[in-house]
Amino acid sequence: MTDLFDLSGRVAVVTGGATGLGAGMAIGLAGAGADLVLVDRKESEETARSVRQLGRKAVPLVVDLSTMAGVNAVVAEALKSFGKIDILINNAGIIRRVPALDFPERDWDDVMAVNAKTVFFLSQAVARDMMSRRKGKIINIASLLSFTGGITVPSYSASKGAVAQITKALANEWAQHGINVNAIAPGYMVTNNTENLRKDPERTRSIDERIPAGRWGYPEDLQGAAIFLASKASDYVHGHVLLVDGGWMAR
Ligand code: NAP
Repeated sequence: MTDLFDLSGRVAVVTGGATGLGAGMAIGLAGAGADLVLVDRKESEETARSVRQLGRKAVPLVVDLSTMAGVNAVVAEALKSFGKIDILINNAGIIRRVPALDFPERDWDDVMAVNAKTVFFLSQAVARDMMSRRKGKIINIASLLSFTGGITVPSYSASKGAVAQITKALANEWAQHGINVNAIAPGYMVTNNTENLRKDPERTRSIDERIPAGRWGYPEDLQGAAIFLASKASDYVHGHVLLVDGGWMAR
């Protein structure tokens, strides 16, 4: 029987691949057989080393994804290196914490640019390549804040709500062309993104109390979901936002 989860010969682009959840998912895809293009605004050499240790190819790119020039550069470089893109994980994201009354315009625009606008336009650019082969997997990284409002992170909540809606909108248009567009909504994960949150004992205690699994997640916890949504196993899954949250949303 063909291995439903085998990614041998597939090329995956993972944004924010230098660290955190992006690094975890990239290494997971490499373990399943994929070659990787690792995009980040800093060096992704450490992730690239882990990918190569698994016997796969890794091309690290230093690109600022807050601009359209960055978006176009990623696609051009990935196609130059591998000639195709089979899998895109739109993972790069930023968060700014300021109470809503004082929230600056700059923090609104910065977050919306990387977390929402780039997710749409990078998907659009990559889908043009995928469509020529009638095959592709796009995985957007949403959040619990795609469903809830969060506290003092209004632009982040707005952007992650947008990620869930972009996922569904693109699935509606592109499923017929053989492209699966889905999202993963991670729960509370131990990465740089939550460093400040984890310094707040009161918030940490209330979050801990609501996680049925009894612990925060780690980047490796997303590997199974990422491989599933990147592989043949999910060929009839479209427009889904898959929670990987230790049960937080269920409580
Ligand atoms: P992270 O450790 O901060 O990693 C994100 C990576 O993306 C960083 O290397 C970051 O670089 C990079 N990046 C940000 N803006 C970029 C840009 N303009 N161009 C290129 N690279 C850029 O965060 P993470 O926790 O792994 O988050 C990954 C994704 O998961 C994000 O979309 C986040 O919103 C989402 N998420 C995280 C959690 C969580 O609990 N950690 C929960 C739900 C969803 P810099 O370090 O320079 O910013």
